[in-house]
Amino acid sequence: MLEDTIAAISTPLGEGGIGIVRISGTEALKVSKKIFKAKSVNLKELKSHKMIYGHVYDDLAGEVVDEALFCYMKAPHSYTREDIVEINCHGGIVPLRKTLELVLKEGVRLAGPGEFSKRAFLNGRLDLAQAESIIDLIRSKTETGLKLAVSQLKGDLSKKIYEIQDKLLGILAQVEVNIDFPEEDLEEATSKDIICAGEVLVEQIKILIDGAEAGIIYRDGIRAAIIGKPNVGKSSLLNALLKEKRAIVTDVPGTTRDVIEEIINIRGIPLRIIDTAGLRETEDLVEKIGVERTREAAERADLVLTVLDASEELSRQDLDVLALAEEKKCLVVINKIDLKDRKIDKEVLKEHAGTRPVIWVSAEHGTGLSELENLIADLALCGKINTSDGFMVTNIRHKAALEKASFHLNEAIASIKKMVPVDIVAIDLRDAWEALGEITGASVSEDLIDRIFSDFCVGK
Ligand code: GDP
Ligand code: ZN
Repeated sequence: MLEDTIAAISTPLGEGGIGIVRISGTEALKVSKKIFKAKSVNLKELKSHKMIYGHVYDDLAGEVVDEALFCYMKAPHSYTREDIVEINCHGGIVPLRKTLELVLKEGVRLAGPGEFSKRAFLNGRLDLAQAESIIDLIRSKTETGLKLAVSQLKGDLSKKIYEIQDKLLGILAQVEVNIDFPEEDLEEATSKDIICAGEVLVEQIKILIDGAEAGIIYRDGIRAAIIGKPNVGKSSLLNALLKEKRAIVTDVPGTTRDVIEEIINIRGIPLRIIDTAGLRETEDLVEKIGVERTREAAERADLVLTVLDASEELSRQDLDVLALAEEKKCLVVINKIDLKDRKIDKEVLKEHAGTRPVIWVSAEHGTGLSELENLIADLALCGKINTSDGFMVTNIRHKAALEKASFHLNEAIASIKKMVPVDIVAIDLRDAWEALGEITGASVSEDLIDRIFSDFCVGK
């Protein structure tokens, strides 16, 4: 299957300065030479990793398709470790499609989603965790997310996993020498050694798992909902946080009827904010949809910002809104503190806010927003500070594999303590090793590999 040559447009479709058609496989050079003509360079004496100027040429029609740059990357020094040719065309849909079509006409197959990266993985250029980081890198929403992805691409996580796997193999070897003597138990000294070494690994895995909670939040973000009755300043708050006005801000109650989602960078955490219509019982159908959506949004959110108006007394509606988010990770935001006339009753507020943090802001003047951001970040991370060596597990799949490895390792340790036959211990140790291999791809099914790469875009 790896034998054939694949091609795709590797840049986004649309208008751009340049667009790239990428071809990978044994036929890449032969095929691309047929459609590309250069005056200044003899294509027979082509050097690897050198750009050459020329034209994409449709032989059949006898026409120049585009003026382009051509770059040949000789295997194994390429992204896929196969021969790659990249043709830099002008970035329009037509020249790119036409160039790709010419390549495909020569018998090259259109690449599937993520197929270049999949080849990079299958050819051993990247392990699975590294390959997965590429999509994280492309989709990163904050600089923190980008940094974490780059570290994973560099292999920081993989290195740690290989280290643990190596030590695990050492333990396994110690256990396995005893398998041939089933009538004998492990010597006491050996048992102690193994238990001790195993516990060190359990601790290392635990650190990775603990860091993963924050890592996953940095990568995927958290969903937050801004709720409150009409006119308390939900849209104003959203806009103040966005620092650009995208939602509709109006002083007509209940006008923000549709739910809008925006991503805001809060201390490196992508906060997906859902702005909702005002929450109140109403006969108005359109508004009712808004109310129901508010309930839904609050229920789906990981973090709820309940907004109240400092210049008004707390109403029944306010208390209803407060009640809605009681069980959630919730912040109570008292808005409009710039208004001199503060009618909000602090005692009633205290009673209904319970243990939730209360923060006083002015969306209009920006007062208290920086503190609000800190509070959001604290609450989102829940004190889950990264304790690992400068990198974090950011992927739920990796976290699950670590948990599995930890489970088997603990089983193995418990078995040794209970003097269970060593061959049983060996099975758990091997399972732990394999669970770790799921992260780097040393032990994964073809199905899983397909699933991971099909999440990539075409051309990557
Ligand atoms: P929503 O219905 O909860 O989304 O409220 P809006 O964001 O549309 O705001 C309702 C009204 O309150 C608008 O006239 C805003 O200008 C005003 N408003 C919002 N935040 C503040 C604030 O911090 N101070 C003052 N004085 N007015 C505000
Ligand atoms: Zn609004």
